[in-house]
Amino acid sequence: MTYLAPVNDMLFCMKELAGLDDVAKMPGFEEAGVETAQAVLEECAKFNQDVLAPLNWEGDKHPSSWKDGKVTTTPGFAQAFRQFGEGGWQGLQHPGEFGGQGLPKTIGAACIEMLNSANMSFALCPLLTDGAIEALLTAGSPEQQALYIPKMISGEWTGTMNLTEPQAGSDLALVRTRAEPQADGSFKLFGTKIFITYGEHDMAANIVHLVLARVAGAPEGVKGISLFIVPKFMVGADGSLGARNDVHCVSIEHKLGIKASPTAVLQFGDHGGAVGHLIGLENRGLEYMFIMMNAARYAVGMQGIAIAERAYQKAAQFARDRIQSRPVDGSLPGSAPIIHHPDVKRMLMTMRACTEGCRAMAIVAAAAFDASHHHPDPEVRKQNQAFYEFMVPLVKGYSTEMSIEVASLGVQVHGGMGFIEETGAAQYLRDARILTIYEGTTAIQANDLVGRKTARDGGRTAKGIAAQMVVTEKALAARSSVAARAMHKRLKAGREAFEQVVDFIAGSSKASPNAAFAGSVPYLMLAGNLVAGWQLARALLVAEDQLAAGEGDAAFLRAKIVTAHFYADHVLSKLPGMRDAIVEGADSVTALALESF
Ligand SMILES: Cc1cc2nc3c(=O)[nH]c(=O)nc-3n(C[C@H](O)[C@H](O)[C@H](O)COP(=O)(O)OP(=O)(O)OC[C@H]3O[C@@H](n4cnc5c(N)ncnc54)[C@H](O)[C@@H]3O)c2cc1C
Repeated sequence: MTYLAPVNDMLFCMKELAGLDDVAKMPGFEEAGVETAQAVLEECAKFNQDVLAPLNWEGDKHPSSWKDGKVTTTPGFAQAFRQFGEGGWQGLQHPGEFGGQGLPKTIGAACIEMLNSANMSFALCPLLTDGAIEALLTAGSPEQQALYIPKMISGEWTGTMNLTEPQAGSDLALVRTRAEPQADGSFKLFGTKIFITYGEHDMAANIVHLVLARVAGAPEGVKGISLFIVPKFMVGADGSLGARNDVHCVSIEHKLGIKASPTAVLQFGDHGGAVGHLIGLENRGLEYMFIMMNAARYAVGMQGIAIAERAYQKAAQFARDRIQSRPVDGSLPGSAPIIHHPDVKRMLMTMRACTEGCRAMAIVAAAAFDASHHHPDPEVRKQNQAFYEFMVPLVKGYSTEMSIEVASLGVQVHGGMGFIEETGAAQYLRDARILTIYEGTTAIQANDLVGRKTARDGGRTAKGIAAQMVVTEKALAARSSVAARAMHKRLKAGREAFEQVVDFIAGSSKASPNAAFAGSVPYLMLAGNLVAGWQLARALLVAEDQLAAGEGDAAFLRAKIVTAHFYADHVLSKLPGMRDAIVEGADSVTALALESF
């Protein structure tokens, strides 16, 4: 099954919802207008459709393998990674001074989606490398930046993120890997890291591990964690590769999905100590890692949207081809393609509407990220920063939970064939399953949403976003179409439910934390559902305007209106019930005695 990048929808989100024209007015983004976006997206689509998509199924059948400390990736991956580097795709969003193209995230996000739709296992390598580049840009010294970033951007080297240890998963306060200072200013690291994505592979000449560890004598907990660069091969001052460092892959995991992506157990310092170089200041490691994690969390959200898109495309194709049962309305005389059955349409519409809603939310969030860094007005930068930070747990948490549901519906559309591996639908469901776990489980995203993003400012940012929705509601109220009326009714009810939940969460997080946190994931799901619906409401307004003015692609615009209408009726409509569960249902979450489980 081929993959066709949804370039039209991506450009629509960028232009009409995220304000790409305004982004292109910001200093540093002057070249990044609609024409550039279109050219980049079309080129990116070609690479992903032609080179990476055909390797996706191959990666599932022939996963990465480990032998004597070496990892061999799926046949074709190393060659494709060379093409990826040569094509400049790793550097899309990174600064020109290090060899990147400096494009806004508004455009880059769509490219990340395509890469992950085409081949999520492959895409994880660039995703982690992006995070390592981001961390070095934030906290690395000019020498470290000059030594490591250009080689990672060119694809000669790749990056990893080493947080997890057997006893330290969600709780990084428990990290034990230790770093001993050496006379020459370097450190020697000792410890075990598990679950390290692309921690070992054969696709690049060197691997730049970014590692969380404690310097001897550091305070307990998160305040005593530092961040180190530990290259697989030592790097000379001129960038040349030297001796093998004392970091070794002792095994890789056998997994439910993303089988081609090697998930490594790395042993540091079994032969005298792994040489590491401190990034930034001692004991500030977690703070720097958070920058990397925020970039990675957003990207994992895009993985969710990506896999949902691919699952949708496959299901829609199957539903057109599979002949089964007579339509209930008698519109065809005999057995018909299953796409004629209302329930199959309901499943496809759910898949499509949720994917498009999350894509719109993510691209709008990306534009806020760009404005938070590039807008000339400091006040506007601050507002956009607050908006973006609120969006990160929604893009990560909601889009990934959504992707599992969508991929599962994809299997259902296929019937029995969905359960059979050869069809391919099952791979999307298995691959999607990791997305709500790594880079912080959904509960960890929800804790962030409750604590840092809602309770800390007493719900001010959340209420500010709700106020922006009211503007959309007013525009909808002035329309007479059935779709706009339905959207108005559901958006208003959903926004009111959200505001009540925000009051409840902000009011109870200190006074009765168990009640607030019992509703944390449902709050995240409510907020994500609402923001995605709000963006579809804005899309509906634009689509109606363009159709009335005779502009744009009429079929695309009509489909957008129907999709937004469906979302209002079938997805947004759930929000008042979710509000009840959060505000009135906290007690029953925690009431059962521990011994009764
Ligand atoms: C395929 C794969 C790739 C990975 N890649 C990397 C990588 O490249 N680098 C890296 O460092 N790590 C990586 N990880 C590790 C991943 O980030 C962790 O698995 C994840 O953070 C969860 O930690 P854990 O597995 O220890 O689960 P736990 O922390 O033990 O969580 C178990 C359950 O408890 C819940 N829970 C825990 N704490 C709380 C809380 N405070 N509030 C509410 N619920 C809570 C969780 O939500 C979860 O449901 C990867 C993992 C996998 C499986």
